[in-house]
Amino acid sequence: MTTFANAFLSHRNYFVPHMRCKSVADINYKALKAKGIKYIIFDKDNTVTLPYERRYADLGVKKSILDDCMDVFGKEHMALLSNSAGSKDDKDYHEASDCEHELKVNFIRHQNKKPAVLDDIMKHFKHCDEECEIAIVGDRVLSDIVMGNKYGFLTIYVEPIDRTRDNFVVKIVRKFEDRLLPLICPKQAPSHSLVSDVSDLIKVK
Ligand SMILES: [Mg+2]
Repeated sequence: MTTFANAFLSHRNYFVPHMRCKSVADINYKALKAKGIKYIIFDKDNTVTLPYERRYADLGVKKSILDDCMDVFGKEHMALLSNSAGSKDDKDYHEASDCEHELKVNFIRHQNKKPAVLDDIMKHFKHCDEECEIAIVGDRVLSDIVMGNKYGFLTIYVEPIDRTRDNFVVKIVRKFEDRLLPLICPKQAPSHSLVSDVSDLIKVK
């Protein structure tokens, strides 16, 4: 809670993503890498899978939805981060292992919940020199985006795949994210040391 309270009181631009797009299939991964981003983290639920499911969601693209990213960044430079799979609630990381088998991307193992996971992220990407080389992609402003901005990542907000599958708490939090945040937040995200222009980061179809 401290992170959110601190953002609310002193850093409201933490609530603002550097880039917004419809889904992970709209991101131009080549352009992202060309700007100096070396590592990429995806939230799981409602970002790449439907909540609580283990298969990639069908976003209407021919290939698996992270194949483009895999081709550009490579599996070792990608990770999934979930507050369930891979967290301390995930006994012996069974859920993370099962999801990894299905999704073919590793999950970050972490002791604390988002947003307090920077150490575990840096441990996972052990060759990463600076936080600014990491991008995070997620559907939740209050966890994915605030966390990413606080740590100096590039933050990419995607529309949730299916809002009707959100649990009760998430539904309430989304109302806050959708209705109140636009009224009280600045338009501009925090400056990012590698990426100043995101206009070419969305795929032209
Ligand atoms: Mg999510």
